[in-house]
Amino acid sequence: MSKQLYELGERPPLGEVPEKMHAWLVRADRFGKPTEAFQKEVVNTPTIGDDEVLVYVMAAGVNYNNVWAAMGIPVNVIAARNKTGEPEDFHIGGSDASGIVYKVGKDVTNVKVGDEVVMHCGTYSRNCDWVKKGGDPMYSPTFKIWGYETNFGSFAQFTRVQAQQCMPKPKHMNWEEAAAYTLVAATAWRMLHGWGASSIKKGDVALIWGGAGGLGSMAIQIAKAVGATSVAMVSGEDKFDYCMKLGAKGCINRNEFDHWGILPHWKDNAGYAKWLKGVRGFGSKIWEVLGEKRAPNIVFEHPGETTIPSSIFVCETGGMVVVCAGTTGYNATVDLRYLWMRQKRLQGSHFANTVQCNEMNELALSGQLDPCMSRAFTYEELPVAHQLMADNKHPHGNMSVLIGATGFGLGVSGKPSVTMVHPTLPKGDVHTTPAPYPISAPLPDIAGAEAITIADDGTKVRDLMHRGIISCTPDESVGAVAKIMVDKEIHAVVVMDKDGKAIGVVSQTDMVLARQGRTPEQARAMRAREVMTPGCATCDADLLLSEAVSLMTGRRMHRLVVTEKDLPVGVISMTDVVRKIIE
Ligand code: NAP
Repeated sequence: MSKQLYELGERPPLGEVPEKMHAWLVRADRFGKPTEAFQKEVVNTPTIGDDEVLVYVMAAGVNYNNVWAAMGIPVNVIAARNKTGEPEDFHIGGSDASGIVYKVGKDVTNVKVGDEVVMHCGTYSRNCDWVKKGGDPMYSPTFKIWGYETNFGSFAQFTRVQAQQCMPKPKHMNWEEAAAYTLVAATAWRMLHGWGASSIKKGDVALIWGGAGGLGSMAIQIAKAVGATSVAMVSGEDKFDYCMKLGAKGCINRNEFDHWGILPHWKDNAGYAKWLKGVRGFGSKIWEVLGEKRAPNIVFEHPGETTIPSSIFVCETGGMVVVCAGTTGYNATVDLRYLWMRQKRLQGSHFANTVQCNEMNELALSGQLDPCMSRAFTYEELPVAHQLMADNKHPHGNMSVLIGATGFGLGVSGKPSVTMVHPTLPKGDVHTTPAPYPISAPLPDIAGAEAITIADDGTKVRDLMHRGIISCTPDESVGAVAKIMVDKEIHAVVVMDKDGKAIGVVSQTDMVLARQGRTPEQARAMRAREVMTPGCATCDADLLLSEAVSLMTGRRMHRLVVTEKDLPVGVISMTDVVRKIIE
């Protein structure tokens, strides 16, 4: 008779599934530091559906998603599943793995008991209408990340996966290496190969951000395999050798430049000129590294807010900037002139579909994709691995944890057709990447729109506004408008046309921007209509103050003209709101 529970590392006979299994569990009452949230427990081995597979896990990959799952923010993944009817009051994470198939559902044809597999983390319902009609599963409303949005991930002796998640394990990799690459490599594959005519081609140039990171190290190798030339961005010269061994033609140390960040205002002549100088220098550096004056046909993006303006600028005419994350922030600024005049594409990308995962895995099977595993941990160290990640003290590259494997370096059973150098990252290199905060799924959409309750004390604009409008004509000189501002001690002047209609506002910012890159005489001689922000932003006196604040911050403005029955009667400004805070 089969045993009810096998000790860790004591592998059950092939195909024999014990009733219970060892696992690392997260429970809601201990959400918090990974070292406390993850606890070892024994639970029932999951049962499988007709299109599912039970895999005996040999090793599991470590990803950020389960740092957040352990903390319970921004989503309580357990409560989210309970809401949809799943009964388990715990979470078993893990979105990367290698292992051996122990049981298959009756509809499964692609794997059989005994197969050594790696698993990708993209799941979806095969009954989804979109998928049944042949649509890309990545756009299916049923798409979920296994081991984060679904339970029974790879941090247990057995994991439950859909058959389509299983792919052959590269024989030349040991268990922990095989568990390390799938999530990042499949994401990089779709980014580079998933976008039709814009996808990477032989002879292309690719600019790869974070070349020594999880995604970037995969992207360099994928670019190399297709015959493209890549330039890797890194934060120190100590990473150059690593990226070049992976296949980059050259590297750029991003710390040599200081123009990163949100674009200066397009009216800010001096600021924009400085930015342009910086970004042109960056472009020249790319030419220098390439040894020819070529712009990247494809830019592989994930830092986001601080780098997108430069990525779009340096991208070749007709090229593509493809982005899968915003580690430095989500408000990416785009100078639209470059986007439309040079017909560039800014493309969002998320994980990969089954076909793309398998295309990527072919590269791994052939030996052309090093898993770039920086560190492997024992089963006991699983919480520590996640804690290091939470504290940004983990090394670059990909990490994994032994689950069923009884030691490091086991599981190799063959040689690859292509032999690659196995590069190692410089010692002591730890992350400076801002911890990528996950999206509080699901992202709001039209159908899911529901009223959000916010605290509001009911203050209206009329309670705080300043009555009276100080205005000028469109032809007033900037010098005269400045004098009004100084004399009246105000921050903005409303521009009224001859019918008394407010057509714009000249703010202090507009004045300062008019002065940028001009002599005082040139600035003074300009007309109000040339420097004003047109389309006078107004709000009704009866509007809630909180709504007026959203209007101002959303439009990056400091004041609104207040109207009563559509006639301008006063001004509400950020200063008024600040005064309200101190009552
Ligand atoms: P990673 O291993 O932490 O690498 C990120 C790289 O970004 C680092 O190597 C770092 O390299 C670079 N970096 C850090 N700060 C930067 C800055 N201010 N400007 C430019 N580069 C900077 O992370 P990863 O695994 O590659 O993942 C990157 C992001 O993609 C994360 O947010 C992750 O959650 C997300 N992701 C998304 C998907 C998806 O399907 N949508 C899948 C996988 C990952 P240097 O310091 O050397 O420059």
